[in-house]
Amino acid sequence: ANVQELLLSRIRDVHDHPKPGVMFKDITPLLADPAAFTALTDALAGLCTEHGATKVVGLEARGFILAAPVAVRAGLGFIPVRKAGKLPGATLSQAYELEYGTAEVEIHAGDLGSGDRIMVIDDVLATGGTAEASLGLIRRAGAEVAGVAILMELGFLGGRARLERALDGAPLEAL
Ligand code: IMP
Repeated sequence: ANVQELLLSRIRDVHDHPKPGVMFKDITPLLADPAAFTALTDALAGLCTEHGATKVVGLEARGFILAAPVAVRAGLGFIPVRKAGKLPGATLSQAYELEYGTAEVEIHAGDLGSGDRIMVIDDVLATGGTAEASLGLIRRAGAEVAGVAILMELGFLGGRARLERALDGAPLEAL
């Protein structure tokens, strides 16, 4: 409960960002506070260990900031899921629907495979589309999904229900 209060106190609500009518959850105050950033890293690393992860996937871009120290803390490898066109090696790609249009994410196919259990890490769960697409990449690479661990979920967008269907029994952990 103490950790949750600390983390929540370091998340800033920004009205009308990135466009009018949107309330943006800004995690930069949390990142700038070493006690909060360390508490977050430790909590997420604990979830990786608890769920038997062998590697950590971070979702571009804020997911990278969280997943990299979590991977080091938990003694696991880090794998980036990037927006299409950024990774130089052989990739798997997954398209998904946005509110308007589509997006595409990619992973280096050689970074994971059978025998791996992957924990997906991101900052904010909104509609769940980005995280769901990453599960597709992980499974197509032949790896297992250990779960999804995020800092916070925006409950009113229904992302949990959607992602839990895609997780197929694997845990969705929101701090
Ligand atoms: P989703 O695919 O709709 O779940 O959107 C999740 C992605 O958008 C995540 O990678 C988040 O980093 C980002 N995102 C959506 N809303 C917010 C927000 O309020 N604050 C920070 N990131 C957000």
